[in-house]
Amino acid sequence: PALFGPERRNSRGWDLAHAPDLAMIEAARAPHRATRFEAAPLIAGSTAPDAAAPVLNPADPADIVGHVRPASAADVETALATARPWTAPPAERAAILRRAADLYEDHFGAIFALLAREAGKCLPDAVGELREAVDFLRYYAAQAETLDAPPRGLFACISPWNFPLAIFTGQISAALATGNAVLAKPAEQTPLIAHYAVRLLHAAGVPRDALQLLPGDGETVGARLTSDARVNGVAFTGATETARIIARAMADHMAPGTPLIAETGGLNAMVVDSTALPEQAVRDVIASAFQSAGQRCSALRCLYVQQDIADAFLTMLTGAMAELRLGDPWDLSTDIGPLIEAAALRDFSAHIARARAETRVLWQAPAPGTGHFLSPTLIRVPGIAALDREIFGPVLHVATFRAEDLDAVIDAINATGYGLTFGLHSRIDDRVQHAAERLAVGNLYVNRNQIGAVVGSQPFGGEGLSGTGPKAGGPSYLPRFTARPAPKIAG
Ligand code: NAP
Repeated sequence: PALFGPERRNSRGWDLAHAPDLAMIEAARAPHRATRFEAAPLIAGSTAPDAAAPVLNPADPADIVGHVRPASAADVETALATARPWTAPPAERAAILRRAADLYEDHFGAIFALLAREAGKCLPDAVGELREAVDFLRYYAAQAETLDAPPRGLFACISPWNFPLAIFTGQISAALATGNAVLAKPAEQTPLIAHYAVRLLHAAGVPRDALQLLPGDGETVGARLTSDARVNGVAFTGATETARIIARAMADHMAPGTPLIAETGGLNAMVVDSTALPEQAVRDVIASAFQSAGQRCSALRCLYVQQDIADAFLTMLTGAMAELRLGDPWDLSTDIGPLIEAAALRDFSAHIARARAETRVLWQAPAPGTGHFLSPTLIRVPGIAALDREIFGPVLHVATFRAEDLDAVIDAINATGYGLTFGLHSRIDDRVQHAAERLAVGNLYVNRNQIGAVVGSQPFGGEGLSGTGPKAGGPSYLPRFTARPAPKIAG
């Protein structure tokens, strides 16, 4: 089957170790270093948006990235009243989504600039994110061409700030590819990149009544969309607690059986046993826990190291942590950018202060003075049960275990109720097999890092408190956006 369409490949990406590629990126994003971007409702009717508010760079609050005009109650009502399913034949929809993918790639300079300045993404993260967005567009376009099922009607797509382009695009392209109308509500922190993306989708040919953008906050715009009976399905990615609120609103206001596709948080663990290759495991722990400043749903939160190697391993790990450079994500030498907002910094700093009072902080480097920076921190815990919630930042908790207690470790991980990602570093095949059978997680990674699932080859999504399924970027995702005709009964 066609994985991505005629060309059958993931997006080409950029090699950041290749000087000409890097020079091309620098030249394309430089003009956007000081651009003031705009976000406003993009609806199929006249709009009366609320007053504009500045959007600030999380690494430098003096940098105004642009202004957002949130959708008013009247805008939401207009969008709900004018939304129309996309009736073009599947092949035409697919062609337009592929054109949008090409436009995304063409506009990489502005997109990388926005990802750095609005979302705090370092360049390797920005490259990964653009590729994932492009992959979603091409993958769902190809899938939709082979799917013979009518749309449900109107989907509300509600997305988080941590993948403001990829997840935003993934949700809406799935709903559009299957012929639904979409009302998209991006995260409050990242409306500018969403607005930029919707303009590219419109330019590619997606009708304006099939795709409308409603910037604004979750409690007003989001809550209106998830409690309106005209909405036939909700695609949501964000915190587990928000998914509960949305599920309750939908149960109260929408037809029974209206689908909620929710991809939510995680308390992700990794186990490193005494047979692991230490240098490789350290590198993968660093990437899993600290890349994107730990602001990935898949990120490692609790590391279990086998007791026999713990001292040596933690010495190597803290040594590697000391090399990480915090700073402006625009700079190529930066490894770790800012947290998205001051509230997160206050919250996680309080978590670390409690651990420090109990002498459980094993390592923390100083953070730069301005911006919402939290330096990578290592905290000792007895086990994952000590983590009562997802700390969405560069904070890694570490516990030790004895080889004979591995099953108890796995049981403790399962007992959190979350089930998103899990990493295992071991060279014992039976142990890997055993863990894979016993763990209730969506994505399990062996002898590698546990972030950065690739569309089309690593469908991504969790179990339990981590999500409803189906996995994004896999073959089961699109059917959830369709109303499957009742099966014909023979005879
Ligand atoms: P969030 O606070 O739950 O927000 C997600 C989206 O929901 C935002 O657009 C938000 O709007 C909106 N929202 C908030 N309250 C709402 C309500 N009452 N009704 C309707 N919509 C509402 O999550 P976040 O902080 O943006 O993202 C981080 C979380 O997402 C983490 O828990 C992370 O693990 C999870 N995540 C999961 C995945 C996955 O694939 N499983 C991927 C990425 C992130 P506002 O921005 O205005 O609040």
